[in-house]
Amino acid sequence: MTRKTIQHLVLSFGLITHLVQLVECIAEPVKPPVPSEVVPDLRRVKPTVVCIDCSEPFDTATHKKVLKGLVDNSYIGELRKALYLQDSLHQFESKAHFDNCDFDGAIAYIDMLIDQVNGHVNGAQKAKKAGDSAKTQAAAHNAFFAIGQVLHAVQDFYAHSNYVELTEQSVNRITDLDVIAPWQSEGKARINQLRQDGRKGLVSGFVFWGFPQLCPLGSMSHADLAKDNATTTSGKVKVANLENLSQYDIAVYLAREASIKFLREAFKWWPLLKELNGPNLAFDVLLDRREI
Ligand SMILES: [Zn+2]
Repeated sequence: MTRKTIQHLVLSFGLITHLVQLVECIAEPVKPPVPSEVVPDLRRVKPTVVCIDCSEPFDTATHKKVLKGLVDNSYIGELRKALYLQDSLHQFESKAHFDNCDFDGAIAYIDMLIDQVNGHVNGAQKAKKAGDSAKTQAAAHNAFFAIGQVLHAVQDFYAHSNYVELTEQSVNRITDLDVIAPWQSEGKARINQLRQDGRKGLVSGFVFWGFPQLCPLGSMSHADLAKDNATTTSGKVKVANLENLSQYDIAVYLAREASIKFLREAFKWWPLLKELNGPNLAFDVLLDRREI
C-alpha cells in the first residue's frame, strides 16, 4: 500500500466517523438536564390554600393569615418538596408523570405510595404511643412526602393526558366536568374505559427518554399534548363552550380539585396527620420542570 493510499484511507475514516456522529446527533435528541431541586418559598408561588373540612371558604384576609402560618410548617414543607423532587428523582419514569400511556404503571405507583403513607402513619402512631415525639414527627414527615408524590402524579394525569380534550365538549360549565380520582376504584375503571378506543381514546404524550413507552402507534408527542403551562400547544387552546377558558386553565382546575379530594380523604384515613399538621394545607398545582 502506498503512502498516498494510507493517507487517503485515514482521511476517509475520519470523515465517516464525523458523519456517524452527526447522524447520531440528529437521530437522538439530547435528554434534558436534571431540574433544580430548590423548592421556592411558599409566598412566591401563589399556592392553593385549603382548610380540610372547614365550613366556610377563606376570605382574603384569612387566606393571607393562613398562608403566613404555613410558611414554616415542616409537614407542608415535605409535601411540597416531594411535588418538586419528582421531576428530578423520577425524571425518566413514565409512571411518576402519567407519560407514555403508562396508565397501569401510574395507577400501581399511586397505590404503592398510599401503602407507603400507611406504613409511615403506623410508625408515627407507635412512636406517639411510646412518647417519642421526634420519631413521631419524622415518620409523619415521610408520610407527607409520599402524599406529595401522589399529588404530583394525580396532577400530571390532567396535564399529560388528553382527558381535558376528550371531555371538554360534553359540558357547559367547568364544574360539571368529572374529576377523576386515579386512587379510587371508580377512577381506575373510568380511566380504563376511556382507554378502550386506542389512540382515539385516553392517551398521554410520548416522551422519548421516558420508560416504559406504551402509547399506540401514531399517538401525540408530550410536547403537543402537555398542558403544564399556558403557552404549550395544547395548553393555550381556548374552549368556547367553557367561557373561553384555556385547556391549561381546565387542567389546573381539575388537578386542583383532584388534589383537594385526595387530601380530604388522606386526613380521613390518617387522622393523626391532620392532628399533627392542623386542618390547613398549601400546595402547588401543575409542576413540570423537566423542560419537555
Ligand atoms: Zn411530572
